[in-house]
Amino acid sequence: MPVSSTKDRVTGAEPTADVARILDNAQVPHVLWGRLAFGLEIEFVIPDDHLESATNTLSTAGFPRCTNPNRINLGYGRARPVPDIHFHIELRYPDCTVLSLLAKPVTLW
Ligand SMILES: [Zn+2]
Repeated sequence: MPVSSTKDRVTGAEPTADVARILDNAQVPHVLWGRLAFGLEIEFVIPDDHLESATNTLSTAGFPRCTNPNRINLGYGRARPVPDIHFHIELRYPDCTVLSLLAKPVTLW
């Protein structure tokens, strides 16, 4: 089976790379965070003063922001901060559900 087949792809790698490239191009500092290995929710930590820029940049790039805090999945024993901003990305990336942005001070120190 070719390495590039859907079955052999690392779940979440494509949207993670896309978001990192979009934020790089917008010169928004970011750190990949969270449970990427599960491929359901991709989390990036963004400095506070860049959070609005990151949100606007990703919205402009076609990521649909969700403003309903009750619509994010907080199940499966979430033991980490609730994201400041989130986007539902399952229509664009069927292997993933949510792209989350977390403010840096809340998350890292
Ligand atoms: Zn939501």
